Amino acid sequence: MLTTGVAHTRDVDERRQDLLETLRRWRSERPWARRDPESLAISEVVGAGPIQVVLLSTYEARGVELSYRPTRSRPDAPASTPDPWSVSLEQPQRAPVGNEVKKALPGQLHQNCEVCFASGRETCPACQKRHDPSDRDLHQSCGRCRGTRRILCRTCAGSGGVLARAVAWSKIEQSEVVRVKDTHDLPVDVFLELQSTDHGGVLIHEQEADRIIDIRRTSSSYRDGGAEDPLRATVQALTRDPAVPSGARLIRQRLEVRQVAVFQVTLQNESTAWVYGEPPKVSPANAFRTLAGHAARVIPGLKN
Ligand SMILES: [Zn+2]
Ligand SMILES: [Zn+2]
Repeated sequence: MLTTGVAHTRDVDERRQDLLETLRRWRSERPWARRDPESLAISEVVGAGPIQVVLLSTYEARGVELSYRPTRSRPDAPASTPDPWSVSLEQPQRAPVGNEVKKALPGQLHQNCEVCFASGRETCPACQKRHDPSDRDLHQSCGRCRGTRRILCRTCAGSGGVLARAVAWSKIEQSEVVRVKDTHDLPVDVFLELQSTDHGGVLIHEQEADRIIDIRRTSSSYRDGGAEDPLRATVQALTRDPAVPSGARLIRQRLEVRQVAVFQVTLQNESTAWVYGEPPKVSPANAFRTLAGHAARVIPGLKN
């Protein structure tokens, strides 16, 4: 069990006040469709407080863009596309995400045409557009291919060979992977929302390094669980699969652990609902609706 502070040590009254405050914000978006939180007969509020573990990876991706022009012959020995990592492409220090650097490579590469697999012919686009292979008359009357369904390849002009100019590029990109832990009995919709969307929450741990392999405990607000640290396995799974494309160069990683406010609310009629996230959401969606809110569900374009 995690002793993360925040939700667990708060007393009941404080938690109830937090819930009401959250529900007031939720209601203010559509006061006519959502019930006043003061009018709800709440019997119990439990802070579920799951945690989100987020790994942000900044990396450099590289590639080569080729632009072709036809040439008269197919190559005897096709030139290979250069490895972008062997090209000197300099990203500035601490380049921001999205920064792109390009470099045109000298010379031209004599290659096989990839559009027609060096055959010199490609499928007739006019026939392909018609899309009905059973319609023989249409094929026969096609002015473009005269019913043969093949035309001269437009990329290599029928030679099967092309000359390519290569431009190597380097781009700084970022990936984000999120796991949710301590979900207790969260309903599936709430779990999936928290799994995919950043809901703010209270930052309880952060760490940055060129490459993060494991969680490093420094925060005093978060108990170090040693080998049995329940977060360790999650962090290790994230760092093993940080959604960085193979071949990319990892530059920097940032790990964040956030406690997300999730309230499990039980009403006096025994029904249960969940209130969570920023902006606040309620699950099931119809839990605290007014009659007008229920009615509006059937009117297209009105969301409540
Ligand atoms: Zn045709
Ligand atoms: Zn071709």
